[in-house]
Amino acid sequence: MKLDPRARFDTICVHGGQVPDPSTGAITTPIFQTSTYVQEGLGRHKGYEYARTQNPTRAALEANLAAIEGGTAAFAYASGMSAINAIAARLSTGDHVIVTDNTYGGTFRLFDKVFTHYGVVFSFVDTSQPDLVERAFTTKTKLLFVETPTNPVLRITDIAAMAALARRHGAKLAVDNTFASPCLQRPLELGADLVIHSTTKYLNGHSDSVGGVVIVRLDDDLEWFKFIQNAAGAILSPFDSWLVLRGTKTLPLRMVKHSANGLALATFLERHPKVRRVIYPGLPSHPQHDLAKRQMPHGFGGMLAFEVDSFETARDVLGRFRLMALAESLGSVETLVCHPASMTHASVPPDRRKAIGLSDSLIRISTGIEDVRDLEADLDQALGGRADRATQSR
Ligand SMILES: *Cc1c(COP(=O)(O)O)cnc(C)c1O
Repeated sequence: MKLDPRARFDTICVHGGQVPDPSTGAITTPIFQTSTYVQEGLGRHKGYEYARTQNPTRAALEANLAAIEGGTAAFAYASGMSAINAIAARLSTGDHVIVTDNTYGGTFRLFDKVFTHYGVVFSFVDTSQPDLVERAFTTKTKLLFVETPTNPVLRITDIAAMAALARRHGAKLAVDNTFASPCLQRPLELGADLVIHSTTKYLNGHSDSVGGVVIVRLDDDLEWFKFIQNAAGAILSPFDSWLVLRGTKTLPLRMVKHSANGLALATFLERHPKVRRVIYPGLPSHPQHDLAKRQMPHGFGGMLAFEVDSFETARDVLGRFRLMALAESLGSVETLVCHPASMTHASVPPDRRKAIGLSDSLIRISTGIEDVRDLEADLDQALGGRADRATQSR
């Protein structure tokens, strides 16, 4: 049963790559919790030999994710970091990589602390400025690795402009699409070669699985990621594959609510007297709002950040939340708050934090799918009251 090529996005999320289980007709792909497969005779089997190499539950998820991102194939890994590791493992000594300077902390650590050991050279550049990226290319540049929007200051990089630059310099463009999700941002359609997700976040969406995926467009990439997935063995387990597959079916519904709640909370906070600054790509006050509107036409997602007057205030506010949970991670049904300077970005040196605009008084919110009035009430009481009542009583 092949999905009609004209099927639209929400339909693809539910049905993309999905077939009823051939042995029973089960509509949901079972969790194939097995390490090996019985062969009928020497050299005769059903395409499955050993579960690091092939697993039907993982294959069903990979087909689904490839369809959702509009790629030719997808490869699911044990974490977002192992997906990014699979990209970096293709590089050789002397190769040069340009990376978004405000990239996810784990990505920075992997590149800076592991791959520099192998003689790979990294330039961390503000990719929201294409002329800086243009200047960073060398004859050795093999990869442009972009994250947009960034964490936690939500800086936007123009993916189509990056694709044009990468093509001109003979480099590949990889985009970490974790923060936006494929509902809101379409890197392959904008010219990227590779898309990465931490499926831990929006794709799974329920705070109960850690995983990662690389989605590819070209045959030589397909061969590499299939090879390294088996050769290095950082595979997503059958149970986690099943969980993410359950998550992607409701992804469009969840992203609509995440985006609506994100915009509502950003607007609420922008009017709040205790708040100094709000960062959300959907607000006209965001310096790259026009680019965000063009690149993320269906919504701006659930991630936002705001600044209060001092670290002490931020600490007090974070101690008062009742509904929102103080936790790392993002992209789940429940609203999470965190203090990036001491939590998610503690490993980033203070001068780098300052350079990207990440102050000690910044609070990050990953908006869940709760009723926004309850979220506003919790924010208001945590900030110590005095919000705009007109917003409150809506
Ligand atoms: C969480 C995250 C990662 C790493 O993914 P893990 O699943 O935690 O290994 C990479 N990039 C971004 C943008 C993330 O938010």
